[in-house]
Amino acid sequence: MKVQAAVMVQPGQIEIQEFDKPTPEDDALLLRVDKVGICGSDKHMYLGHTALKFPVIPGHEVVGTATDIGKYANQVMSVMGGPIKSGDRVTVVPGSKNCGRCYYCLHVPGRPTLCSGRTIYGFSNSETPPYLTGEFSEYTYIHGNSWVYKIPDEIPEEITVLIEPVAVATRAVERACSPGLPQVGDGYSIGSRVAVLGCGPIGLLVIAVLRDSGAGTIIATDLVDSRLEMATQMGADVVINVGNTSLKERTEQIQALTNGVGVDIAIECAGIPSVFSEALDVVRRGGKVIEVGHYTDSGITEVRPHQICNKDLDVCGVWAYPQIQFQTALDFLQRTQIPLHKLITHHLPLNELEAGIDMLGDEGVYKVVIEPDL
Ligand SMILES: [Zn+2]
Ligand SMILES: [Zn+2]
Repeated sequence: MKVQAAVMVQPGQIEIQEFDKPTPEDDALLLRVDKVGICGSDKHMYLGHTALKFPVIPGHEVVGTATDIGKYANQVMSVMGGPIKSGDRVTVVPGSKNCGRCYYCLHVPGRPTLCSGRTIYGFSNSETPPYLTGEFSEYTYIHGNSWVYKIPDEIPEEITVLIEPVAVATRAVERACSPGLPQVGDGYSIGSRVAVLGCGPIGLLVIAVLRDSGAGTIIATDLVDSRLEMATQMGADVVINVGNTSLKERTEQIQALTNGVGVDIAIECAGIPSVFSEALDVVRRGGKVIEVGHYTDSGITEVRPHQICNKDLDVCGVWAYPQIQFQTALDFLQRTQIPLHKLITHHLPLNELEAGIDMLGDEGVYKVVIEPDL
C-alpha cells in the first residue's frame, strides 16, 4: 500500500509524494493521521525562515489512530494513558525523548527542550527510511524514542487538534509562575493582572489558560478588531486595538486598570520585536515578562535595559515545553468550558496544504486543520 505525504522539497515548494506504507519495527508504531493543525512555524518554514535539511515532511500537531503497533512499543516509548492498542486515538509530542548524554541533558535536566540530541517530528529530514517523519501525511511513523499520549474520550473531538498549541500556551503561563515558596506579589498566581500582547492562536490560547487558572484582569492587545473580539470570547476582560492607540495611550490605559502601576505579568505573543519592548513598558515593577512569540528570529528592536534593572524584572523565554506538558494540555482541554472550538476555522485536504499555509494570518483564520481523509 502507498502512503501520500506532503513533502516540502525546499522552502516554498510542497509536493504530494507517495511512499511505501512502512511496517513498524518492534519498538515503533504506525499512526493513521486523522488531522493535523497548521502552525505558524510551518509557515515560517515555507517562507525559508527556518534552517533545516530539506526535504522535510512538516506537521507536528497531530491527532491520529494507532494502526500497527510494534511488539515492544508500549514498553520502549514514553506512553501516557496506555498501553496503546490498535484503534486508539492518540497524539504524539513533536520532540522525542531526551538523549540523556548532551551537555544540557547532563547539566540542565529540568529543561528538556534544550537537549541537542532530540529529533522533532515535522522538522526532520525525510530522505531516508522510514521517510514518514512528519504529520502532513496519511500515515506517520512513530519511532521508539517518542512520547505518545492516548487522548481521553472526555475531550471533544473537534478541539483535540489544539493539544500541541495548548501545551505551548500552558507552558507560557507556567513560566510566569515563580517556583518555590510563593512570595506575595511574585510571579503569576490567582488574581494576577496580565497583559497578553498579540491575539493569534497562541495568544488566544494563553488568554483561555489564564482565565481558567484564576487570573485577575486580562488585557489583550492586537491590531485586528475581530481578533480582539475573539480574545473577549476566550476570556479577556479588556481589549485594546494597537492600531487606534499610541504606545503612550496604551501604557496609560493599562496603568489606569492596575492602580497606576502596570500589569503583574506581560506575555508577548505577537512575534513582533517591538512588542517585546512594549511588554517592558506595560509591566509593573517587580513583574514578569514572558517571551513566547518569537519562535523564529524576526529581527531586532530597541529596548531600554534600564527598565529591566529599575523595575527589577524577570524576563523569561519559552522554548516549546517539556514532553510532560501534553498532560497539562489534556487536563485543561478535558475541563475547560471556554469555546475553544471557535478557534478551529478551516479544514482542508492534504493537497491543499499550501493554500492553508498561505491563509495563515489572514483575518478570520485561526487554526487551519489538514485532514488527509477529506
Ligand atoms: Zn506548533
Ligand atoms: Zn540531550
